[in-house]
Parts: sequence; C-alpha cells; structure tokens
Amino acid sequence: MHFNAEWILKECEEKKRPISDFFRRYEAENAEMTEDALDEEMLKVLEIMKDSANQALETPTFSLSGMTGGAAAKVWSHRKEQSLLGEFVLGSVARALSTSEVNASMGKIVAAPTAGAAGILPAALAGVQEKMGLELSDLLPGLYTAGAIGKIIAQEATISGADGGCQAECGAAASMAAAGLTEIMGGTPEECFHAASFALIHVMGLVCDPIAGFVEFPCSLRNASGLVNAFISADLAKAGVKSLVPFDEVVDSMYQVGRSMPETLRETALGGIAATPTAKKLEEEYL
Ligand code: SF4
Repeated sequence: MHFNAEWILKECEEKKRPISDFFRRYEAENAEMTEDALDEEMLKVLEIMKDSANQALETPTFSLSGMTGGAAAKVWSHRKEQSLLGEFVLGSVARALSTSEVNASMGKIVAAPTAGAAGILPAALAGVQEKMGLELSDLLPGLYTAGAIGKIIAQEATISGADGGCQAECGAAASMAAAGLTEIMGGTPEECFHAASFALIHVMGLVCDPIAGFVEFPCSLRNASGLVNAFISADLAKAGVKSLVPFDEVVDSMYQVGRSMPETLRETALGGIAATPTAKKLEEEYL
C-alpha cells in the first residue's frame, strides 16, 4: 500500500472526512498515542513555529557565519509602505524570512519538511490565522494536512536538496503549506491536492545552490517566494482551478527532474548562484 494521494482521497471519500482527520488518526495509531495527546504535541509544534516566525521581525537577526541577516526586520518595517504585494502578503513574507534567519542563527525552528525550508509553513499558518481571526488550535487541521503532503513527498520522492534540488525542499514546503491553507479555508480533499500540485509545479526544476554550502543565500529568499507560492496555489484551488495532472504524478515528475539534475546543482555549492564569482569571493571570506 503506497501512502499517496490516490489512497488518501479514497479513504477521505469513503469516510467523508478531511485529509487532516485521516492523517491525525493515522499518526496517532502509528505513534500509539491518543488523538488528543497528539494534538497536544502538535500545539507545541505550532507554538515553536509561531515564535520563529515572529522572532526576527523587530530584532534584526544575523546568521552565525555573519554572511546574511536582517532582511525580515527590513521587510516587516516596510510592509505598511507603498508596495506591490500590500501589507498582509509582505508581512507574511517577513515571517518566512524570520524563521529562515532564526535557523541560520542556530535558533529553534521546526523543520517543515527541512530546516532550509522551515520558513514557509509557519508564515503561511500565521498568515491565515491573522486573516481569518483564528485561534492557534484552529490551525491544527492545516498542520495535519501539511504533514500528510510532506509524508507523501518524502516517501514517494525526496525532501532533500542533495537528492532533488530546492524543488524538493522549498517546493515541498510550499506544497505542504498550500494544502494546509486550502483545508483551513474550507477546501475539499481534492482541492487540497490541487493546491499541493500547483505549488510543486510552480518550482519544478528549482536547483539547490547555497553560497559556501551555508543554508542562507539564496535559501531565505526561496522561503519568501515559497510562501507566496503557497498563497497563490491555495487561492487557485479555492477558486476552482484544477491541476490536469494528479498529485502523485506531479510528485513523481519532481523526483525524476531532481534525479536528472547534475550534481553541481544539488547542494554541492558547485553550481548556480554558488558558483558565481561573487559567491566564490564570499565563500573565501566567510569560510
Ligand atoms: S537552496 Fe538548497 S540548502 Fe537552500 S533551502 Fe533550497 S534546498 Fe535547502
């Protein structure tokens, strides 16, 4: 039995339940916990996510290497100025950058699904909480649904930049967040999978090329764009737009694309942005 979208959709259809309910029971059974006890653990996860998404907004936070930092505070203070995205989206972008900066400063984050891509899901959940006036516990269904998507990608493909490029990290995180947002906004299981598909399709082929091998640049920028990707994907699905290709096939194609990428574009810091003359100078300076 593959843990995939086809199976989950069948289960959800038969029992008339959302993805979050299915995955909550599945995880509780596997962990030999009650569903209420699992909720308690997941609430702690949400607390950590919320803290990391807010921590660097007003206090400029710099990486341990010293190479990057302070972007979250800049964007946060700019969010009320004239901008193309507007205050809500820009504030959410700042939160995605915040968790990335907390991670690069060796602070506490939740890998969702990895540390490099940890900014996207917390910012997405904080954004929908703010927009819809929700309690923290109202975000639990979104977190469970995001978890189900992450588990499919991890089991059926990869969530490692070294294996599949950044599409497998920030792409997976955006896919998780898109599905979670869609469910919180009242979307059906089918709509959640459409949103998850869109987010992966948007970044199909995205390479992994961190300067000097540090999970900093361009990683934090890809968390910012991944957050916006999740918002777009969720809104597309809620508007009734459908992915022509089912999620399981999108995941498989992402994996095939990742495996066909040259090694220089898979977290080796030998290609892409990491191989530019300026990146090489920075590498000498900061290593
Ligand atoms: S560029 Fe590579 S290291 Fe950075 S977030 Fe993407 S996959 Fe992770």
